[in-house]
Amino acid sequence: MTDQIKYVLGEQDIPRTWYNLAADLPGGAPHLHPGTGAEVTVDDLVGIMPVTLAEQELTREAEIEIPEPVRQIYAQWRPSPLFRARRLERVLNTPARIYYKYEGGSPAGSHKPNTAIAQAYYNKQAGVTRLATETGAGQWGSSLSLAGALFGLDVTVYMVKVSYHQKPYRRMLMETYGARCVPSPSTETAAGRAILAEDPDCPGSLGIATSEAIEVAAGDAGTNYGGGSVLNHVLLHQTVIGQEAIAQFALADDYPDIVIGCTGGGSNFGGLTFPFLGEQLRGGRKVRVIAAEPESCPTMTRGSFAYDFGDTAGLTPLLKMHTLGHSFMPPPVHAGGLRYHGMAPLVSEALDQNLIEAAAVNQLNCFASGIAFARSEGIVPAPESTHAIEIAVREAIKCREENTSRTILFGLSGHGHFDLGAYEAYLSGSLRDEALDPAVLSEALAKLPGLVDA
Ligand SMILES: *Cc1c(COP(=O)(O)O)cnc(C)c1O
Repeated sequence: MTDQIKYVLGEQDIPRTWYNLAADLPGGAPHLHPGTGAEVTVDDLVGIMPVTLAEQELTREAEIEIPEPVRQIYAQWRPSPLFRARRLERVLNTPARIYYKYEGGSPAGSHKPNTAIAQAYYNKQAGVTRLATETGAGQWGSSLSLAGALFGLDVTVYMVKVSYHQKPYRRMLMETYGARCVPSPSTETAAGRAILAEDPDCPGSLGIATSEAIEVAAGDAGTNYGGGSVLNHVLLHQTVIGQEAIAQFALADDYPDIVIGCTGGGSNFGGLTFPFLGEQLRGGRKVRVIAAEPESCPTMTRGSFAYDFGDTAGLTPLLKMHTLGHSFMPPPVHAGGLRYHGMAPLVSEALDQNLIEAAAVNQLNCFASGIAFARSEGIVPAPESTHAIEIAVREAIKCREENTSRTILFGLSGHGHFDLGAYEAYLSGSLRDEALDPAVLSEALAKLPGLVDA
């Protein structure tokens, strides 16, 4: 089958364990307690998450068993397909072999249910009755709402206020799954009230909504927090993506030279690339790994590698990460899932050790490549995913110019069916690149907690 385009595994091939990069990655700075500055322990985390997840957050064990009930729900859309983008290759007239791993087949349309399902399972096991979380454009909120519905948990989602009003369909999806969706900043929390007292018209941010969700989880024994990205255990759960991809490349009798993912907080990127990096660190083949981020929120290409909070009010543990500062407010680009000030500590550490590269791309180029992809491969990509496509297209064109063939894999983290407004803006010519004001960036960086390494 020389023209094969789809590499499919069976239900029995869904991975039985998640892979923890921390086992093979030397170094790495611990999370610190926001009050004392001491290294975070399981006991510090159990106020907002079950012991099982707190242990996964801090462990260096290489493999964590995936509970059978979680695998069974995964089976509805996993193993996800690996496609060879033969039509895109022809359009680009490239000798490169381009593959993509498609996570848009989950009920919520992205990779996020891979961890939402696991988190809901462990919380249900622990007797928790409600999960609180934040969401920007609504992808994480809808994934956790789905998971809550499947496990019989109440879900409260603090949704960034400007998105709550501008993107009603994701809110409706959350409500359809039975969740309660609250525009943030809200009057329900001290963090929200403090922001509103200063600025009654505050449009909200992911950092503020996170503070609200954590405050609620910490203050109520029956409520826990569900994190959509950044944290170690979230990236851990996403590693089913890369493990499946490795098995699919064996079917294809190929192996990627380059692996690319888009990065908001780093979870789909880590999920796809960490199993490949793990093989490399254990003596296997070397891969070039590229993280694609927006020029308007350039966490890895222009941020500091420093301890910072994950939220605005400073309630999360201090995380050593690439960050633009927890007070940074990114411009309103359409890839809402990439508008986050920080980056997962594990991704940040891999970047610091030069195991991966980071590249910043602008919105207009991303949409151009996303549309070329939709017109050749048929899938309308999420605006976030177009960042990975843009880098893949660049690398494929480089192959044409250098007259060399390379195998390129990128993560197609989700579909864009809820983002057609952004496509309309692009197609009508009204979409602009959002320039990042250097003064805003340096002001936010100046407000870093300024901790020296522990
Ligand atoms: C949320 C989201 C992202 C960004 O989050 P990561 O944690 O960096 O993966 C990327 N793509 C899609 C489709 C998303 O929903």
